Amino acid sequence: MLTIKCADCKTKIMKYKKIGRGKVLRCYRDRITRLYDYKVEGDELKCGNCGNVIGDIEKKQVDMNQHSFTYSGHKEKK
Ligand SMILES: [Zn+2]
Repeated sequence: MLTIKCADCKTKIMKYKKIGRGKVLRCYRDRITRLYDYKVEGDELKCGNCGNVIGDIEKKQVDMNQHSFTYSGHKEKK
């Protein structure tokens, strides 16, 4: 389970169940297990604290903006 945080203000955005190796390029919506502090404007997912754009919301996933978040925790092995 990964905890995704805003890169600017370190606010927790969400918990995400990442499967497999590699970068977090997108977050599938059905694997987001918990949302913390966030807001949605149009199709953008933003930090609820500072408004930093974390990613673009698509039908099945959120396409993550690589420069606007950090994460901690570990990825699950397949
Ligand atoms: Zn922020």
